[in-house]
Amino acid sequence: MFITVHVATAVVISETISSRIIGFVAGVISHLFLDFFPHGDKGLKEWVEKTPKRKKIKILFVALTDILFVWVFAIFAMKRLPISNPEVAYWTSVGSAVPDLIWGLYIITGKRIKPLGTISKLHDKIQNTWKDNLSLKSGIAIQIPLLLSLIWAQINIPKL
Ligand SMILES: [Zn+2]
Repeated sequence: MFITVHVATAVVISETISSRIIGFVAGVISHLFLDFFPHGDKGLKEWVEKTPKRKKIKILFVALTDILFVWVFAIFAMKRLPISNPEVAYWTSVGSAVPDLIWGLYIITGKRIKPLGTISKLHDKIQNTWKDNLSLKSGIAIQIPLLLSLIWAQINIPKL
C-alpha cells in the first residue's frame, strides 16, 4: 500500500493517542494491519517486472512518486486538517512509514543487514496472507477513496 495512505491512517488514529512512543508503535501496527488486506501490490510488482531492464528505474519512480505524495499530504495536513496533537501525529506517521522504509533499506543494502531481513519477511508474510490478485489500477481505485475517507474522517469525526 502507498505510504501516503499509511500516513493518513496514522494521522486519524493519532487522535486517540497521547504519547509519542505509543503513537510510533501504533503507527507500525496500523501499517501491518492495512497491508493485511489486498491492495494491488501484486499488480504493481507485475508492472515493475514486465520490463526487466527498466525495473530499477520503475521502483525509483514509484518510491519517489509516493514520497512526493506523502510530502504534499503532510503540507495539506499541517495547513488544513484539524490535528489535536501534531507531535503525536508526527510520530504515529513516522511509525506508519517504518515497515516500508525498512523493506527499502533491506533491498538497497543488498539484503546484507539481517535484522532488517527479519522485519521485511514478517512484512511480506502479512502482505501475502490473502491472495492479492488486484491489478495496479484496482489497487489505486481502492486506495484513493480510502485516502479521501481518512481525510473526511479527520475533518469530521469529533475530537476527544
Ligand atoms: Zn507495507
